Amino acid sequence: MAARGPGSQELTVTSSPDTRPAMRLDAIDTVFLDRDGTLIEDRHYLCHPDGVCLVPGVAPAMAELGRLGVRFFLVSNQSGIGRGRFTFQDLLQVQSRLDELLGVHGAHITDWAACPHAPQESCTCRKPERGLWDILAQRHQIDPGRTLMVGDKASDIIFGQRLGCLTALVRTGHGEDQAQALGLPELCQDPMPLPPHPSWPHLQASSLTVLLQTLLASRRKP
Ligand SMILES: [Mg+2]
Ligand SMILES: [Zn+2]
Repeated sequence: MAARGPGSQELTVTSSPDTRPAMRLDAIDTVFLDRDGTLIEDRHYLCHPDGVCLVPGVAPAMAELGRLGVRFFLVSNQSGIGRGRFTFQDLLQVQSRLDELLGVHGAHITDWAACPHAPQESCTCRKPERGLWDILAQRHQIDPGRTLMVGDKASDIIFGQRLGCLTALVRTGHGEDQAQALGLPELCQDPMPLPPHPSWPHLQASSLTVLLQTLLASRRKP
């Protein structure tokens, strides 16, 4: 069980009313996840199922939240396809291994979408563009106001902000570097709400597991 900061069970994120509405973690019914560096360990151009390694403790927390009605969606930039490093078939095999590892714990992802393009293709589905959201929102009823977007990069945060989601940066994967680049304060509470700032997430956390455990705690409150 990962450490939890004092008072985090009452975690409420409020920010300036003009740009970001007040949101409570207990209102969240949908979690959008980045894949590499957030849900699984970041491996450079991961293209083989053997390389899939879940962030420790994440699957049981997802399973428990799933039983409480929280849905999980995956949105992933996979430019390795556009760069010719691997194929869409490889991506499907990685996804099926990921589904298998989650399934062992009774966790599952409702649906996923990936951008296969290289950055220079200037597509509309490479995060922070909103295309992956649009694909999933066509297939499912999703309310951005009740969605938490979690990622390890600034592009994940911008993606979530543009849609009006609650956003969280995790310090796994590229998260440490990105937190430094964004000038985020030291992580002194986990998860830690952040003050309003145009390029900052609403929250930062040491890992997705800690974030999901806090989400769980918000559900257990009477
Ligand atoms: Mg990532
Ligand atoms: Zn794309």
